[in-house]
Amino acid sequence: MQSIYAKNIYLEDSWQKNVRLDISNGVIQDIKLDATTQSQDEIIDILIPGLCNAHNHSFQRAMSGLTEFKPASTQDNFWTWRETMYQLVEQVDASIISAIAAQAYQEMLENGYTSVVEFHYLHREQGTDEFNHTLLEALVEAATSTGIRLIYTPVLYQRGGFKDEILSARQEQFYLTCEELILHYQYAKSILAKRHSLAIGVHSLRAVTNASMQKIVDFAKEEQVPFHLHIAEQQKEVMDFYEIYEKRPVEWLIDNYAVDENWCLVHATHLDEEELNILAKSGAVVCLCPTTEANLGDGIFKLHDYVTQGGKLAIGSDSNISINPFEELRWLEYVQRLVKLERNITSSEDRSSGYCLFNMALDGGALASGNKKIGSLKKGGYADFLELSSDNPSLVAHETNTLLDAIIFSNHNSLVNRIMIHGEWLMTDPLIKKNFQIAMHKISNRKSRD
Ligand SMILES: [Zn+2]
Repeated sequence: MQSIYAKNIYLEDSWQKNVRLDISNGVIQDIKLDATTQSQDEIIDILIPGLCNAHNHSFQRAMSGLTEFKPASTQDNFWTWRETMYQLVEQVDASIISAIAAQAYQEMLENGYTSVVEFHYLHREQGTDEFNHTLLEALVEAATSTGIRLIYTPVLYQRGGFKDEILSARQEQFYLTCEELILHYQYAKSILAKRHSLAIGVHSLRAVTNASMQKIVDFAKEEQVPFHLHIAEQQKEVMDFYEIYEKRPVEWLIDNYAVDENWCLVHATHLDEEELNILAKSGAVVCLCPTTEANLGDGIFKLHDYVTQGGKLAIGSDSNISINPFEELRWLEYVQRLVKLERNITSSEDRSSGYCLFNMALDGGALASGNKKIGSLKKGGYADFLELSSDNPSLVAHETNTLLDAIIFSNHNSLVNRIMIHGEWLMTDPLIKKNFQIAMHKISNRKSRD
């Protein structure tokens, strides 16, 4: 049994002082409030739960900062960015993916994420026609080397658009039949260590037929795991969908499926008022990825209206243009302030914006991951947390009532001193950075050869 004594700890949804946690098998077994220190205690200044990165494509970490030029004589947007991403897909193999993912996971941990939903559609290694599990194994190796809690989420990608267009040559590495995706999921289930788990999904409505989607939705239900998909990220996608289905994507989705708290809708940027209302009432979680959505020029989610109606939210690093949960939450609030010309859009009654944002991300992350043992520190929950220090210049002189605001809005320094996952303090393996450097040089050399 491990015993931790926290001077300040964020338990469930409130701050407590002088708390002892007894931890074994990765789980918080007991919590004593108003405790006094004992000889075996490890004394910590500030403890907060780590956040769930509810949407991530770790291989895209290799693109960050490399796509900020406008192509000559054309407008740059999500679709041109996607072509550059497809070029990257042609350059990576399993060993490169493993190295990139390990660096991304390490950065997630250092900045405050303790679990990650890996939304994965790149199923075939470059140059191999056979369906195998090599890229999954590369991701598991990366997660294991860093210690992050992985929610592996394989997704179906079968067609090039809403009119059943065939996949482009560059998209062929994404293709699996429904049966192959389910076999792949079963294989992942057989190899994942106990701390990891699974979800499943489809890439988007444009990437699958209704019949294929129904099979995967049914399978998710049987397995009792969350179902994830990208939806309504781009206006063009919404218009193309409307042309064929004569409904908007989220409206159609809720008319045709029993969307509930087991669903995670990624982005859902372009919703009309009616869609916003029905989605908020469905219990589903919307995963917003503010830095990626800004970087790709996606648009702005109507946060205030959605939250006011009790809508649930998670956050994700998505393309990994940057990796920091507190930056995502800051952007989430700031974009709304810029649009509405007001302050404190997410705060409610006597709760500050930082408090509301942090709690939304914790609750939504637990839903999106399908794991009730993460998301808040409680008896029976996993011991996944971040150690902070009150003498950090960003936090100094803050009482607990403004600490979450300081963490999110005035985060001038690296805040996380140490990270515990599943009851173990993590150590950084210097090889992760080294392997990432080697992988990035390999990609760069392959690109210059092409
Ligand atoms: Zn995505």
